[in-house]
Amino acid sequence: MIPCVCGSTKNSVRCCIQYISGEGIAPDPESLMRSRYTAYTQLNIAYIANTMRGPALAAFNPDNATEWAKQIKWLRLQVLKSSVVTPADNTAYVEFIAHYLFQGRRQKLHEISEFHRIDGCWYYVGGKTEEIPVNPK
Ligand SMILES: [Zn+2]
Repeated sequence: MIPCVCGSTKNSVRCCIQYISGEGIAPDPESLMRSRYTAYTQLNIAYIANTMRGPALAAFNPDNATEWAKQIKWLRLQVLKSSVVTPADNTAYVEFIAHYLFQGRRQKLHEISEFHRIDGCWYYVGGKTEEIPVNPK
């Protein structure tokens, strides 16, 4: 068993990898968000793009995202809060902190992401972010 890099206690093939490979559809916003984190660790920018709609997709530049992600060493993902989603809900939020090294410095990306369900699939549509240097120097 290979624990998933998203920090769940699940085997990676039963967690993010099935969504990234297209074998499964992320059943809820938190699963989608986790799989996007995992895709970033794999430099799978196509998956990042495919899981966005609306303002997030409009603002997305795959080349910039690739350049940025290449300079990141992902440390861990911490999910703080996620909306409880009923079948009637088509909007949901996940609050998380992604811990990473950028140019050798520890950074945290703290975001409240917004997700919309469109034709039965969840997509990332935008978020409020704050980048917080852990050890500013
Ligand atoms: Zn995972």
